[in-house]
Amino acid sequence: MSRRKIVTTCTRDCPNSCGLIAVVEDGRLVKLSGDPDHPLTGGVSCHKTAKYIKRVYSAERITHPLRKVDGRWRRATWDEVLDLVADKLKAVVAESGPEAVLYYQGYGERTALKLLNKYFFNLLGGATTMRGSLCGGAGQGAQNLDFGNRVSHDPLDHYNSKSMILWARNPVSTNISLVRIAKDIRKRGGRVIVVDPARSLSVNIATDHIRPKPGRDGFLAMAAAKLILKAGAEDRDFLENRAVGWAEYQAILDGFTVPELCSLAGVSTADAELLADTLMHQFPTSILLGWGLHRHEYAHYVIRPIDALGGIAGLLGTAGGGVSQGFEEYGPYDQAWWGDQLHPDHRTLLIAKVGEEILNARDPEIRMIVVTAGNPVCMAPNADKIVRAFKKAEMVVYSGHFLDDTAELADIFLPATTFLEEDDLMASYGHNFVGPVNPAIEPVGETKSEFQMFQELSERFPFAGEYRRSVADWLQTICAPLWEQGADLETVRRGPFRLDAPMVPYADGVFPTESGKFQFMTEFDPAVLQDEDPEYPYKLLTIAPHGYICSERTMAEHEALPTVVLNTEEARRRGVCDGGHVLVRSAYGRLMALLKVDEATRGDVLVTERGGWNKAGHGVNLLTRDIASIVGQGTPFYETRVTVEPCPDDGIIGSRVLVIQHSDESPGGNFTKELARQGCLLTTVMPGEGDALPDSPEGFDRLVVLGGPQHAFDDQGSPHFPALMQLMRGFDAAGKPVAGICLGCQILARAFGATIRTMPELEFGYVRLTVTEAGAQDPVVGPAGPIPPLMEFHEDTFDLPEGAELLVTGAACANQCFRAGNASYGFQFHLELDSIGAEAWFEEFQRGDIDTYAKYRDQFTDEFFAEMRGRFPLLVPQSGDFCRNVARNWLRLK
Ligand code: SF4
Repeated sequence: MSRRKIVTTCTRDCPNSCGLIAVVEDGRLVKLSGDPDHPLTGGVSCHKTAKYIKRVYSAERITHPLRKVDGRWRRATWDEVLDLVADKLKAVVAESGPEAVLYYQGYGERTALKLLNKYFFNLLGGATTMRGSLCGGAGQGAQNLDFGNRVSHDPLDHYNSKSMILWARNPVSTNISLVRIAKDIRKRGGRVIVVDPARSLSVNIATDHIRPKPGRDGFLAMAAAKLILKAGAEDRDFLENRAVGWAEYQAILDGFTVPELCSLAGVSTADAELLADTLMHQFPTSILLGWGLHRHEYAHYVIRPIDALGGIAGLLGTAGGGVSQGFEEYGPYDQAWWGDQLHPDHRTLLIAKVGEEILNARDPEIRMIVVTAGNPVCMAPNADKIVRAFKKAEMVVYSGHFLDDTAELADIFLPATTFLEEDDLMASYGHNFVGPVNPAIEPVGETKSEFQMFQELSERFPFAGEYRRSVADWLQTICAPLWEQGADLETVRRGPFRLDAPMVPYADGVFPTESGKFQFMTEFDPAVLQDEDPEYPYKLLTIAPHGYICSERTMAEHEALPTVVLNTEEARRRGVCDGGHVLVRSAYGRLMALLKVDEATRGDVLVTERGGWNKAGHGVNLLTRDIASIVGQGTPFYETRVTVEPCPDDGIIGSRVLVIQHSDESPGGNFTKELARQGCLLTTVMPGEGDALPDSPEGFDRLVVLGGPQHAFDDQGSPHFPALMQLMRGFDAAGKPVAGICLGCQILARAFGATIRTMPELEFGYVRLTVTEAGAQDPVVGPAGPIPPLMEFHEDTFDLPEGAELLVTGAACANQCFRAGNASYGFQFHLELDSIGAEAWFEEFQRGDIDTYAKYRDQFTDEFFAEMRGRFPLLVPQSGDFCRNVARNWLRLK
């Protein structure tokens, strides 16, 4: 067995940019962990790294080019899709000009070679691109006003801090190397104060938690500043010699009392005193700003007072102090390679309002959209508008890994490599190191790096020669500023290189503003911050998820519903309870969710994690407002107001479904998740685990009976079967729909009088099936769309019950789906199976680990397993779509 260790760098949208070691055995990635030699991240990495390995080999990962034909994805060759893209680009540019093409470059990966993507579109003539930020724009803009140019303290300098204020920063979830520093501060007796309206996981490593109103942190900073001034502990030298605008800012402070400011911030006076005391008596204290602070229309009214507080407290230019927000991830490169100088006036659209901007674009209209490393339909605000905008385009080209919300709207899917298959360099927006991105494994399937895609695409244009160079040549060219600082490519490929950046910015007291001094905010209009709305009493905080980076997840990894967190008292007042279903409504849309109550969450916010896919029922951006911040062209996601209501309990929403589960290995998958997403309340009973079956359908509206390895005729092995059949008949007699899947289908057939028998062979794998004439007319199967190959895993079959209609048939096993009685459906195939289930069943069956079916293992060759797995990327999502359609149709049965 060959075993290799490769030094690389995490390129995901995370400030930590951890140095990583990838372990590869026989060409397969088996482990990913922190590189102990990285000077900052030193062996640290987060729990998400294990998920990266799963993503690389996921059954849902698209590993071949796809094109949509008649609304369905079809596998294609690279030449085919690149020809299609090139032909369309040429036609659109010739007919409407280059600005009729929109290039949307996401933040999913920000390596050195990514500059060249935009270079391609500039060589094309200057396509429309995006401006502004979905993330840090507002804060960066605000800090640029104060400092002239935002520069942050090297994270290693925080070891010099006596205390630390994590102002809306959540390192436990999004900046893991700071956790070690925070713990060190606490060990030395310092304070770690989390300022956050929500209870982030970083509260667990903090000494204190202050919960200001979202977007009102500026008042808290002003209150603390006044307390420092009152104590005479301000940095006089800074105020008199290194800052301008102090008199005006002091006048702003003089307009409020400390209690007034605390009331406006929604905190106690003790909270402001704690901050002031820390800044005065735990000197130096570092202040680290998080990304939530940017997500307000007036984010500069949040961040500039915090910068000012840092100045007043003497922290600016001081080792262990500072007000640090972030770093320029593209800063170390030769920015000329974006190619913008070729078309400096090319059109840009504001990313905060991407849907509206595309819809409103004229002269020319947007006719073609190319998206790389982004999922705007899921991640940008007002998702519904973005869907409309994308649908208006004649062609959408998407480069990514999975059939996510944006891919769903695309016509061409270009399967991209992950960073574990790429050769590149990576700087960080969280520290001062540039790290190597070394390929750990060969590209999976036919995936290509974006660099390779654009290079091959450029070969279809007259400017191919401008692009035609090796990766090493391009890195040498793009990273020229690094070489001027003493690095060389070979050395950086072996490990991280620290940029020539200060440990402590502004240490000489000089700021790169016009005056050379810190610039205080001199105008402040608190009236614009009044935004109460009794109809929508909560601000929606869509925070960074703990388990994932943004929307980087598979369909199967989604829980049935997103979770929203509401203050305990508020939940009681609104008549909603912990663990219950709720409807969240904004002026833009509505979302069904599970409620979690929490005493430590403010009463005027509703908190949920962002990044879940719309198509999985997690689309929080269906609720959000698409406006831009006043400063910095940022995206004020948190200016969305919502209300929370109990789910109505009539109709489909609130429908009570009894689910009988026969095995841990056969959960309800896509079928029961879809029922939950449609608002059903599910009660799961596992008779094999000793759960009692209900005596009657009383209290339930529908019944689902799932699969399992048991034999439907074996009452001795499963003594609950007779009672279950009685229950199924009871539901049907009461006109309450029943759905049986695999084993459940066979039990249903038996309940209606059919005989069960064992087939000569096991039916296993995704199998082509045919909808019968009766099926085409059936209200559940007929409108579910063309039937894709569906997963089979059974050795028993059944005779069709008397009076039943056969809806779907197959070659090896005829009776695949039937309707019987009033509203009972049996599905022999596993329409519910998701990618996690498919991977597990194939792996365990191939290894011979499933006792019941081990005797059949040798009937299937390794080539069969490999061929099936190769088709997973289309089989699994098509099966999922079919299942969701069936589930929705079944729910419509009266
Ligand atoms: S996601 Fe962030 S913390 Fe996790 S490994 Fe990547 S850079 Fe490190």
